[in-house]
Amino acid sequence: MIRYVSTRGNEEKITSSAAIIRGLAPDRGLYVPDSIPFLPRSPKDLADMSYKDVAKIVMGAYLTDFTDDELAVCADKAYDSKFDTYTIAPVVKTEKGFFLELWHGSTAAFKDMALSILPWLLKTALKKEGEDKKIAILTATSGDTGKAALSGFADVTGTEIIVFYPKDGVSLVQERQMVTQTGKNVHVYGIHGNFDEAQTGVKNVFNDTKFAEKLAGKNIRLSSANSINIGRLVPQAAYYINAYKTLLENGDIRDSEKINICVPTGNFGNILAAWYAKQMGLPVGRLICASNENNVLTDFINTGVYDRRREFVLTTSPSMDILVSSNLERLLYHISGSDSERVGGLMTGLEEEGFYDAGSAAKGALKDFYGGCAEMSVSHKALAKLWQEDRYLIDTHTAVAYAVYLEYLAKSEDRTKTLIASTASPFKFAGSVASAIGVKIGEDEFQTIRNLQKDTGLRAPKPLSGLEALPVLHENVIDKADIESAVAGSLL
Ligand SMILES: *Cc1c(COP(=O)(O)O)cnc(C)c1O
Repeated sequence: MIRYVSTRGNEEKITSSAAIIRGLAPDRGLYVPDSIPFLPRSPKDLADMSYKDVAKIVMGAYLTDFTDDELAVCADKAYDSKFDTYTIAPVVKTEKGFFLELWHGSTAAFKDMALSILPWLLKTALKKEGEDKKIAILTATSGDTGKAALSGFADVTGTEIIVFYPKDGVSLVQERQMVTQTGKNVHVYGIHGNFDEAQTGVKNVFNDTKFAEKLAGKNIRLSSANSINIGRLVPQAAYYINAYKTLLENGDIRDSEKINICVPTGNFGNILAAWYAKQMGLPVGRLICASNENNVLTDFINTGVYDRRREFVLTTSPSMDILVSSNLERLLYHISGSDSERVGGLMTGLEEEGFYDAGSAAKGALKDFYGGCAEMSVSHKALAKLWQEDRYLIDTHTAVAYAVYLEYLAKSEDRTKTLIASTASPFKFAGSVASAIGVKIGEDEFQTIRNLQKDTGLRAPKPLSGLEALPVLHENVIDKADIESAVAGSLL
């Protein structure tokens, strides 16, 4: 039986269902499993299983209070025809590496892998814990998470989903994805303000205990869908294990052969899932952590010092424009031997002074990782070269990973086969991708998508190409001071 404990140590151990319902621990730590389970089956024994079955087995190792049947229902609801390939997360072989495409779901980016299943895990968890309150998910988004959460939670009974986005801070495609979302329980608001202001407004609602009481009186509980929820992390370990099984099936690796995994990183959720897979016994060598100009993690891996006191750079890989990578707290907890006091101290240092030094012991424990960063000019060049030489098109986030991987190849003797996480369809960031490979930019993003289709002969995923024709259903734009009243208006 695996229980969940807060990284800051001030809370009781709870079941995975309770941890999924809570999201963040009351002491503001993150929930982690009190032990990391071993792979229930070797990758060889997963041969010919569907993605759903692999996901069910991997999740079952962590979510031990869920029954097999419950997990089967969740996996069935999540990994269905919303994905445009029945393999769900295919692996594509190129000259230099294997790309794990995590963007075949309803928003064409990797957040779908976890946000398609989180609503079902949450709904099951509520039932198991005997919680009869309606759950209202509040999310501030800079683009990708909002739509993935909307489409995951749309029409899931017992939930409401409310998303706030900066009216002038997301791309046309991202905005259109959100404001065309259907569903009886869906609420979308543009904010006059930037992402940080939207985020702060949402945090204030969470911290307003009076408001929480008022909602409780109406049998409603607020929750969040961001990547600190353990219910998002666990389903992510599944695709690395499924990818290993796919490489085996295709004869690309031998049984037990080690692979490296390279991940374009922002909040450290995706790469942490790969680390969990390695701890579970998946044959993984190095974890290559790729950053853009916001290279806090590169420095951390190389020095053991985490320092967010630096300029925030807006890049063409916006989902990686992050200076505080929340999920790193979980890694710190595990590599410090579950020393929650120490983790709490480091996090306080980060909040109050903007940095911490994890010390030499942590630095030693980070040797599984290679940290590298690539500037836009470098990653765009890598993207263009891959397209010209291999006719394989990647998006700008994946391009950061590919560029860092090429740097790793140039610097090290390590020739271990490498799986590169591909986190978005190139059509999702059509403007940057088009300019990287010399395709004409259109008058708007939809025109650019068409130009990119025409010049590359590739097809944009349906959720993107069909977007222009969909009716706009949400036109509310509010002041940032009115976030709480918008929540009240949506729920009460
Ligand atoms: C969220 C996101 C990332 C970063 O993933 P983390 O788990 O936050 O490290 C990378 N690429 C894309 C396209 C994303 O949406």
